[in-house]
Amino acid sequence: MKNTLSILFMFVAVLLSACSRDVHETERTRPEYVIVIHGGAGVMDRSRITQEREELYRSKLNEALETGEEALKNGDNAISVVTKVINVLEDSPLFNAGKGAVFTHDGYNELDASIMDGKTLNAGSVAGVRDIRNPINAAKLVMTNSEHVMLSGPGASRFARENGIELVDSSYFFTVERWRALQRTINDEETGTVGCVVLDKDGNLAAGTSTGGMTNKKYGRIGDSPIIGAGTYANNATCAVSATGHGEYFIRYTVAHDISTLMEYRGMSLSEAADFVILQKLKEAGGSGGIIAVDKMGNISMSFNSQGMFRGFLKSTGERGVYIFREE
Ligand code: ASP
Repeated sequence: MKNTLSILFMFVAVLLSACSRDVHETERTRPEYVIVIHGGAGVMDRSRITQEREELYRSKLNEALETGEEALKNGDNAISVVTKVINVLEDSPLFNAGKGAVFTHDGYNELDASIMDGKTLNAGSVAGVRDIRNPINAAKLVMTNSEHVMLSGPGASRFARENGIELVDSSYFFTVERWRALQRTINDEETGTVGCVVLDKDGNLAAGTSTGGMTNKKYGRIGDSPIIGAGTYANNATCAVSATGHGEYFIRYTVAHDISTLMEYRGMSLSEAADFVILQKLKEAGGSGGIIAVDKMGNISMSFNSQGMFRGFLKSTGERGVYIFREE
């Protein structure tokens, strides 16, 4: 009996020390902060992007990362950083979000965005809006200033106006390039949805996504970007995810939440979960696109099954990178 007890005690002691060592090690190596961004996934042919344009994309992605780092250094929380980073990308005509959004079949720009706070699991989103300059700001306000998660169309615009968010004439969103793309109506060549995930100094996670949707989309079509669990998800217990790609698949496969769930219930690492969902499940189903994600320990994933994805990351440790093509 005495022997059995002491063996049991030793077993528990070893188990406890193993657990605490794990926690200690992971906490010790956790970067102070991490930012990951994307600017859309899709068909990216090196031969069709000029050197000059490539540089424009890379420098805007770098600017977005630096804006985020500055905010984090000043003590901004993850939600605030996600918003500021996405604003930089929304204001650039290079990306399919805010200025530079793609056109619907009927020649309008209808924008979607969402944001989620991993600490509280609060979330906000706007869908199908035509006059909100920075939809991610409106999504954040839906989260903080309303009792709802998602507002759409004119109701979302009214809410935005009443809360002091900048509205613009729809002509603000016009760009020649996106207009020509509609005339060509080649959907899968149009990339540029933007997203950002952040781990802040307090260890909190947040995710946000903003888009003009898919070129030539039908009246009232809403994609995955404003749908919590599909295009955006954040949970301090697991990870923060922002997606880009063929939205109908991301909705049906609840991509962002699926990655979190695999970590939560199956104990998978972030990269295992992300690669399984993007490179296997989604790919086999025929859904093209990718995600960016960060977990609570600062590990990141930029998994995609398309030809390329505008993407970048920055860690407090000094590690950083900006990429476009698959082979980078
Ligand atoms: N996921 C977006 C949508 O389906 C489009 C994209 O990311 O390119 O609306």
